[in-house]
Amino acid sequence: MSEIEYDVIVAGAGNAAVVSALAACEQGAKVLVLEKAPQHWRGGNTYFTTGVFRTVIKNAQEMMYKIMPQMPRSQIESFVVPDYTKDQMYGDHMQLTEGMADPEQLELVVKESTSILEWMTEQGFVWEPRMSPLAIKKDGNIFFPGNGLLFQVRGGGAGLSDQGFDLMDKKGIKVYYNTKVSDLLRDSKGSVVGVVAQNKDGVQRIKSKGVILGCGGFEANPAMRAQYLGKNWDLAKVRGTPYNTGDMLNIAMNHGANPVGHWGGCHAVFIDAEAPQPAEREMLDRTRRVSGSFGIIVNSNGERFIDEGEDRFDLVYAKCGQYCLQQPHLVAYQIFDSKGRDILEDYYQTGRALEVNSVQELAEGLEIDVDRLIRTIDEFNAAAHESKEFVHSRKDGNSTIGISPVKSNWARKINIPPYVAYATCCGITFTYGGIQVNRESQVLNTEGEVIPGLYACGEIVGGLFYHNYPGGTGLTRGAVMGRIAGRNAAA
Ligand SMILES: Cc1cc2nc3c(=O)[nH]c(=O)nc-3n(C[C@H](O)[C@H](O)[C@H](O)COP(=O)(O)OP(=O)(O)OC[C@H]3O[C@@H](n4cnc5c(N)ncnc54)[C@H](O)[C@@H]3O)c2cc1C
Repeated sequence: MSEIEYDVIVAGAGNAAVVSALAACEQGAKVLVLEKAPQHWRGGNTYFTTGVFRTVIKNAQEMMYKIMPQMPRSQIESFVVPDYTKDQMYGDHMQLTEGMADPEQLELVVKESTSILEWMTEQGFVWEPRMSPLAIKKDGNIFFPGNGLLFQVRGGGAGLSDQGFDLMDKKGIKVYYNTKVSDLLRDSKGSVVGVVAQNKDGVQRIKSKGVILGCGGFEANPAMRAQYLGKNWDLAKVRGTPYNTGDMLNIAMNHGANPVGHWGGCHAVFIDAEAPQPAEREMLDRTRRVSGSFGIIVNSNGERFIDEGEDRFDLVYAKCGQYCLQQPHLVAYQIFDSKGRDILEDYYQTGRALEVNSVQELAEGLEIDVDRLIRTIDEFNAAAHESKEFVHSRKDGNSTIGISPVKSNWARKINIPPYVAYATCCGITFTYGGIQVNRESQVLNTEGEVIPGLYACGEIVGGLFYHNYPGGTGLTRGAVMGRIAGRNAAA
């Protein structure tokens, strides 16, 4: 490892960190990136994502001409994409986080959500349209839901990550793998003036004028999960990198960084109960099971326990994983009849399904009490009146009547074989608690003062997510705050 002093050291190499490194480099800074994972595990959780960014959309086609110049105009013209205004993006986020999101951070993310795509395009990232499972093809056009999820980096999360490393390489930014930041260097005035880096050769002090932390949350640390998230969270499966173990959060807090946000909350979804641990990079995010709203979900007692049709999946999926942890054996079975099966997200094909022709066989195959499962499905079918047209791409108002829990939308009878069932469990994505930053991505201490020289971005930062999460916001927030961190650290 070099002894040279750098202008900016970036800890971590996920989306937020890479964007910050590129932004610092653009300002002329000499940048070093230190990544704890080995090279074949580089990219953090970012690698596992679909690479989709939630953004304000205003005149989608104009935006696409600019951000996807490689796409034929005729193809762009076949896209029918409703606007998604600043107020909608801000409002959806506030609604999902029960009004608790830091308004200043949210306002910044919303405001810069489109300019960050343009800037990333200028940097060399290549985009493609996100083919939402909710998009509908009709008469040669593709109709998108108006949810701000239109742009993803080509190749998804793996593409975002690989393109980021290629761009850093081209711009001469050095990355040391297998090297974790194990402490921060401070001068006599308290300013951060470098890091202690640790790898198999030992420990080294590397000086810099600014340090940016982009080290993710603590989702891959079972002890911290049990401590902060509570009962059974140590037993959840990890969907992404095993290297986000919260060590940098602890180091930053030991240096006085202020913990903020929902430390007892996290993003967790239904995933295949047989998903491997640690998660396999080749599987990316394909273990997720987010189409439960088109069927019913029961526990191993054969009982329903949630409103499967509360809202579109991108607005509820992130809070569903936790329900598994409250069920016997921590498992949930998603059950569909042939109507539901036909509209499941493609990812379901990567897992094992139980497919049978009667509810009795279904119960036997799942080892659930037969009478209880038959009763659950009979009660559900009697309460599902199917009074409105079924529309899978938006809330269709087909609600059950007279049962608890209610199924608020997409309530169709489970009555046409074959019946299929998928076993699911809780897959944790990332944690919501983090350290506090200001609008300049500077880290604040517990007294509310800036820690000079220290910046943070991405999921190590708290205050934006509480209780729930609007899909695609993590990458946008990471890039927006990363760009600010990089520019300011370089300055
Ligand atoms: C399966 C899955 C799918 C997802 N899909 C989406 C999506 O489509 N859209 C979206 O917006 N969000 C998505 N997310 C959430 C998303 O991962 C994040 O919003 C984003 O990628 C986080 O970026 P980050 O840079 O903060 O952290 P990460 O990408 O996780 O990077 C953190 C890095 O820091 C490194 N590190 C940790 N500690 C240290 C240390 N002490 N020293 C040095 N390095 C360290 C880690 O090894 C890691 O590489 C998804 C997450 C998962 C797991």
